[in-house]
Amino acid sequence: MSVPGPPDVIPVPKPRAKYLFGKSLAQQPSIERNGDAPLPPPDVQINTQMKTQETDIQHEASVDGSSHQSTSASVPPDLLDVKSSETLVWPSSISISSGLSVEALRSADSDDSPAASDSPKTHQHLSKGQHNVQKASKTDKLTDVQWANEEIHLQSESLQKMPDRPKKPRAATIRVSRKKQTLSGQKSDQTRSEFTVSQSSWLDVWKGRKHMVLWATLDGNLMSMWKKRTDKFTEYVFHVASVTNISKQEHGRFSIHLQKKHFEFMAHNAAVQDGWLHSLYDSRGREAIAAPKKHGPLSMKDRRKKVYSAICGHSLWIYSSKEDFNLGLGMMCVSMNIASVKSTGRYGFSLITPYRTFNFSADSSKEASAWLESLNDVIRNALSYSEVALRLWSSPCNKVCADCGAANPEWASVNLLVVICEACAGAHRSMGSSRSKVRGLKLDDKVWTEPLIQLFVLHGNKTANNVWGHNIPPTEQISPLASPDQRAEFILAKYHKGLYRKAHPLAASQKLLDQRLREVVCGPAVEETVSLLCSGAKVSCSSSDPELKSAIAVAESAGQALQTELLRHNEFVEAPDFEQTRHSEEQMEELHGKLDEERFLFSQENQSAAYDVLDLTEVVSVFDCSDGETHQFEVSTLTDRLTCSADERNALLSHMTHIMKVVLADTVKQDDLLGVFAVSKLSIREGAALQFAEVWCSLQEGEMSVHTLQLRSRETLILNAQTRCYLQSSENCILLEFPDRTFHMQFELEHSCRRWHELLQKAMSSSTDGQQRAGSVPTSVHRCISHITLHGLMVEGLYRRCGIAPQISKLVDTLRVSPKEAVLQTDELSVLDVSGALKQILRQSELIPQTHRPHWQNAAALPGEKVRLQTYRELLKQLPPDNIATLSALCAHLNNVQKHSQTNRMTAHNLAVIFVVIFFQELAMNINMVQMTRELILNHTHIFRSPVETDGAIVTVF
Ligand SMILES: [Zn+2]
Repeated sequence: MSVPGPPDVIPVPKPRAKYLFGKSLAQQPSIERNGDAPLPPPDVQINTQMKTQETDIQHEASVDGSSHQSTSASVPPDLLDVKSSETLVWPSSISISSGLSVEALRSADSDDSPAASDSPKTHQHLSKGQHNVQKASKTDKLTDVQWANEEIHLQSESLQKMPDRPKKPRAATIRVSRKKQTLSGQKSDQTRSEFTVSQSSWLDVWKGRKHMVLWATLDGNLMSMWKKRTDKFTEYVFHVASVTNISKQEHGRFSIHLQKKHFEFMAHNAAVQDGWLHSLYDSRGREAIAAPKKHGPLSMKDRRKKVYSAICGHSLWIYSSKEDFNLGLGMMCVSMNIASVKSTGRYGFSLITPYRTFNFSADSSKEASAWLESLNDVIRNALSYSEVALRLWSSPCNKVCADCGAANPEWASVNLLVVICEACAGAHRSMGSSRSKVRGLKLDDKVWTEPLIQLFVLHGNKTANNVWGHNIPPTEQISPLASPDQRAEFILAKYHKGLYRKAHPLAASQKLLDQRLREVVCGPAVEETVSLLCSGAKVSCSSSDPELKSAIAVAESAGQALQTELLRHNEFVEAPDFEQTRHSEEQMEELHGKLDEERFLFSQENQSAAYDVLDLTEVVSVFDCSDGETHQFEVSTLTDRLTCSADERNALLSHMTHIMKVVLADTVKQDDLLGVFAVSKLSIREGAALQFAEVWCSLQEGEMSVHTLQLRSRETLILNAQTRCYLQSSENCILLEFPDRTFHMQFELEHSCRRWHELLQKAMSSSTDGQQRAGSVPTSVHRCISHITLHGLMVEGLYRRCGIAPQISKLVDTLRVSPKEAVLQTDELSVLDVSGALKQILRQSELIPQTHRPHWQNAAALPGEKVRLQTYRELLKQLPPDNIATLSALCAHLNNVQKHSQTNRMTAHNLAVIFVVIFFQELAMNINMVQMTRELILNHTHIFRSPVETDGAIVTVF
């Protein structure tokens, strides 16, 4: 495998050395990797480059005096060719609407920052200034201009008046194909309806110079931006009342102004843009948030950052500065009805939520206690006010009906975990309570237990729609104005037929679904429980095993109150059939993927805004699928499989190893990942251990590494001709046997399991050194050994006790005819049958042929263990390869058995007494032969595996 060169890395240009930069790009210099410094992902490199260039621009611009240029980098590059910019009328009364003290405070404070940029003007200015550059780039037909960064790149060149533009490498993006609509679940490909005020999608966001791709949501009151869809806390959040202006530009772009600051957005298509603009427009006139009860500076200990905080309503808002507080631009808004506070020392206090603990410190102990008192007040208030509706609505997604988007829904389906409007509640009721249990938020007091409320606050519409509404075609999504028929039809399709749901990966097997449910409810992952229930996992399992605890009992004993509550409401509920779900045919879509630290950003076209984002921490497998012709790798999550392809090997490797590095949580250096062709998350169990451990395994030629991320440890196992690998496809399991150890590898996905089986065999076969044909162990022997290793190591008197003779003969026959299909039982008596069968098969196979036996007898009589062992090695080499392999596997197995002799009572000596008969038959009465067999078992690693020593005298007995 060729060592990849620089993976599309662009060296960071030194200030004012852009010409060099251009040149160095062309000749693709090797990168210097300083020691262990992690190699940033390809795209991060670009960012670094961008930043430097921005600095350049600014620097040079001030030197040149052409100060107008200096602002250009902060504008979404594509704005440059905006020809028309439409500004929607944003009633100014809104921005100062409430006339409450917040606004008063804000306007009072806003004077200290210099003149605000008037955005539309700036745009015009820019489009003029950059017009030529834009034109130049167009005429050059640069085919692989990627993302929007390119324009910035060009700008900087125009400043230098450099004629030869360096060709932008294809580095930044990679072609990705995946099943259509599986990952995003976006409903906003088309605007839901102009009447709804809720909106969500991925957007490219520019705040000043900073470019980000964020998941944005609008609930009619708050616009929130998150780094991941599943994040619990935002990057930015503001109330629509703080918006002073919104404007629409071409190519999916729009901007939102908050007095002096503004955000620029780019949606991946015009429909999404329209949806946002409509929703924003419709949310005008909302009442501003209440005046803060308390506000002031605080330090956030975990970030070592000064922040500004305010208690507004039932929430604590955290702003990055006082200026942002004045503008109403928050970093996050923490709802107090799920929080508690406690004092941590004189100046400090902690705000504890189910997801995160915020550690603050105030400037003085007096301030600290004032904050503590106010927060406690709010928490008490939030709880006493806690009419169910208020609490449920504290989660933005619950503020609008899960089905039609109507505002302030007052009903809920307690088993489906959705908050819905009155009209939708009617449609839910008509499905019957075996599908949806409808309760009123302001009625039905009794149902609203604390755990149920928490379930809705923490999950509710967000989680439920991710699962049940995963694939809603825009044309089928209803609006609040839908007719009763439309509404009923939609709700039936969504929950009764399950047409839009995201199938759980195990949905194909009822058994695995039920099993997984009992695993999941032991932990806090409510999302997965919802997904399992939606795919038909049964809460009250009618398993054949009466001892098996129900999922509810399991959740209860694990102390998972939320899980228990959710299961209770779903105990007698029917899930839709799976046959009907084959609604969306498997269509593939082709995207452009770009790495961004721990995320993979996708766009539909090379230059367009982000359309979807994959959080790399969700990845469970990465496989290199390249062959001589193509350069491809595959990335799987529990719900998705992406195929990524590049034109050349290095581009592929840079992306693939980056992803591998992220999933292995940086426990491995990027260089060490070269040559790795598979990385997967799996559960592993060694030998007869009962517990599976969750690990990551990586595979390369001749070795497999087991990474335990929590311990940051790695163990490397050598794969060679003596390693055996056996696929148990019904259980997504691989049995991997080394001469002295056995591993049970359990995969979540069938696909990953099969792929690993293939690749393991490849990794093993490629490792034979070719000197000698590696022998193989007969399948029948191999199966018996595996079976006993898994189920028999703890059986007392293993190999000594006899099984039932007729059963054994039957088993021997079956194993001989169809060794792979033979059914082996796992109870103790059956294990003894298997061990009996194994002995019989071995006896018949004459592992040490009769003609060789006298030499062995002589060797056994030699004085000195070292000499004897050396002689055994010599003698072994004269056996047929298959016999060596079988003997080796067997001795390794027996060694494993004797390690458990405290339980099974089978010491090496006891085993030798039994196996000497099998190996040497007529010589078995000789005491030396028993000792030799014992030595073969105890020293099998030395005898069978270590290379032959060439130095020193080798004693031969012939
Ligand atoms: Zn509704």
